[in-house]
Amino acid sequence: MYPAPFDYYAPSELKEALELLSKYSEEAKVLAGGQSLIIAMKLRIVSPKYIIDVNNIPNLSYINESDGYLKIGALTRYSDLEFSDLIKSKYPLLHEAVKHIADPIVRNWGTVGGNVCYNHPGNNLPAVMLAYNAEFVATSLSGNRVIKAKDFFLGPFQTALRPDEILTEVRIPIPQPRNGGHYIKLERRVGDFAIVSTAVNLSLDYDGTVKEAGIAIGGAANNPVKVTKAEELLKGNKINDSLIKDVGKVVTEEITPVEEPFGPPGEYKKAMAGVLTVRAIKYSLRRALGGA
Ligand SMILES: Cc1cc2nc3c(=O)[nH]c(=O)nc-3n(C[C@H](O)[C@H](O)[C@H](O)COP(=O)(O)OP(=O)(O)OC[C@H]3O[C@@H](n4cnc5c(N)ncnc54)[C@H](O)[C@@H]3O)c2cc1C
Repeated sequence: MYPAPFDYYAPSELKEALELLSKYSEEAKVLAGGQSLIIAMKLRIVSPKYIIDVNNIPNLSYINESDGYLKIGALTRYSDLEFSDLIKSKYPLLHEAVKHIADPIVRNWGTVGGNVCYNHPGNNLPAVMLAYNAEFVATSLSGNRVIKAKDFFLGPFQTALRPDEILTEVRIPIPQPRNGGHYIKLERRVGDFAIVSTAVNLSLDYDGTVKEAGIAIGGAANNPVKVTKAEELLKGNKINDSLIKDVGKVVTEEITPVEEPFGPPGEYKKAMAGVLTVRAIKYSLRRALGGA
């Protein structure tokens, strides 16, 4: 199918894009990598009257560490993260998650901002951002506001962004020493959307006690789930097999799975969320203790 007719704008300044968004509001859509939006338009799932292509706007694509955060411009492509030495060495959870998105073509086009703004239940990055306790910078004509990841994902294909806002930056707190993370995605075939995914991020104290724990599940439910009960169970404790098993059980209990036609049963997704989290905690622990 062809998309419904629309007017196309490709502003070269952020201010111009924000003025257009402010004017057209819910009738407009931002175009980033186009890897979800164009498909949705061709299927006429969405039919925006105005497309605001942000690809010509400078300074929306970068990766750097400053002020205690890893800062990623919203227009940064997955492949930029995949091939970044900084991300590979210091942010293994994010690195593994982008490496497991679709195929190289999608990774060359798709953007970090687009992934979290679309909030498809099977997307890789929403769960990762919840596990990292990331923050999102939303920019409008009135300035910037910072939204915490836990408040950003409102439901399938819904976020806390207002129609006049563009996501401009994603911020991940720089990990403390003795940090480790791991991402696991259960998929039918390589490159598919997640049936279930788990994102774990741990920081240990010098005596091995868990100082910070971030655990989130993607794919299984309608919205990525930050499993705070499981995080609390780990925090302040030393990890052992019995504790990891308890955390896996809590994760299973906390998931309200969504059943899709021809998809696996909800009970399977619940069980797998627990199993994958147990594995991801073991990997994360090994990394936090200095292993690969
Ligand atoms: C074959 C295929 C397989 C895929 N497999 C996976 C997978 O395994 N895992 C996965 O995570 N993803 C997967 N995807 C989805 C892909 O990651 C998309 O790229 C992503 O969902 C959207 O990013 P985008 O930059 O392409 O955004 P677009 O498609 O351009 O936009 C998506 C939505 O976000 C909004 N938006 C984009 N950027 C901004 C911004 N800066 N501010 C405000 N709103 C914005 C748009 O208006 C639109 O509503 C797959 C896609 C394809 C085509």
